[in-house]
Amino acid sequence: MVITRMSEPVPGAQAMMPGIRSDNELVSEQIPDHLDFVGPGWHPLLLRLHEQLLAVSPTYSVQQVKEKYGTLRVQLYTGLLRHLNMGNTDWPDPDQSARYKAEDDAARELVHVAEQESAGICESCGNPGTPRERAWIKTLCDDCAGYR
Ligand SMILES: [Zn+2]
Repeated sequence: MVITRMSEPVPGAQAMMPGIRSDNELVSEQIPDHLDFVGPGWHPLLLRLHEQLLAVSPTYSVQQVKEKYGTLRVQLYTGLLRHLNMGNTDWPDPDQSARYKAEDDAARELVHVAEQESAGICESCGNPGTPRERAWIKTLCDDCAGYR
């Protein structure tokens, strides 16, 4: 049996400038462009998160969507990081900084709620599930875990 995993990013690879990517990666990719990095059971959760994010951070972009240790992980560029990521080099004025901080906080809270919620949703089919530890941990319902 061969177990494959999505490759992890090299630790520290982006540690210096987490918000900066090369120019050809500046495309505005949002959650709908990243659904396939996790199982279909979490797609409705991700699409709901996307709709919620649009309300607080319309120009947000995705750094990474993945599963880790059985739960959803979503990393975004919002607020100041997004500002810099779009190629801006000016530092925002205090009012704009405050708006960016509010945007970051709101987006972070929405992501946190979705990540927590994923621990109760089967990643495979979307039914209620619990984290299952095997060679790796996946959140699955009884059916998809083969318990029925
Ligand atoms: Zn399932």
